[in-house]
Amino acid sequence: MRILIDADGVITNFTETFETIYVGCGGKIPEGFIWDHWHAMDKLEKGIVEQVWNDPYLFRVQEPYSGALEALERLNKEHEVFIVTSTPHMHAWSRSDWFRRNAPFIHRENQIVFTSQKYLIRGDVLVEDNLLNLEEWHRNNPRGWPVLIDRPWNWEETPSFGYEVYASLGSFAQGVC
Ligand SMILES: [Mg+2]
Repeated sequence: MRILIDADGVITNFTETFETIYVGCGGKIPEGFIWDHWHAMDKLEKGIVEQVWNDPYLFRVQEPYSGALEALERLNKEHEVFIVTSTPHMHAWSRSDWFRRNAPFIHRENQIVFTSQKYLIRGDVLVEDNLLNLEEWHRNNPRGWPVLIDRPWNWEETPSFGYEVYASLGSFAQGVC
C-alpha cells in the first residue's frame, strides 16, 4: 500500500514543543489552557505566537510520540511510505533535518512532500490528525482509506464522512504490518 503520513500531531508532538518555546519567549499560558481545538492558539499572546512560528527550533526539536518512530520504520519496510506535511516552507530544511537525525530510514529527497494541499497527493491511506485535511483528501481520493489519529483537538469536530480512528501511529501500524 502507499501510505501517506502527516508529521505534526501524528509522528511529532507539535503542541508540546510549541508551548515550551512559547513559554521560553516569555509567553504566559492562560489558566486551564488545553489544545482542545485547532484554534486553541488564538487564546495565546499573538505577538509571541508569531515569534514561535518564526523560530526554526519549532520544527527541529519536536519530540516524537512514544512508539511513532518504530511504527514508521516498520511501515516503511512493508509499504510505500510518504511523509506529507504542511510544514511552512521556511522551515522545510529544519523538518528534513529532523528526519535525518531521528528517522534516517526515510529518504529525505524522495519521501517527504511539503504541501498544505494534501488532497493533491494520491495514496491508498492518509494518516492525519486534522479532520478537515482528511475530509478534503477523502473527497478527492474517494477510494482512499482515511485514518484519523485521535487527539484532543479533533474531538469537537463533526465529521460527515467515514474514517477510521486509531490512538497512535503504532496502533495503526499493528493493523497493517
Ligand atoms: Mg498534523
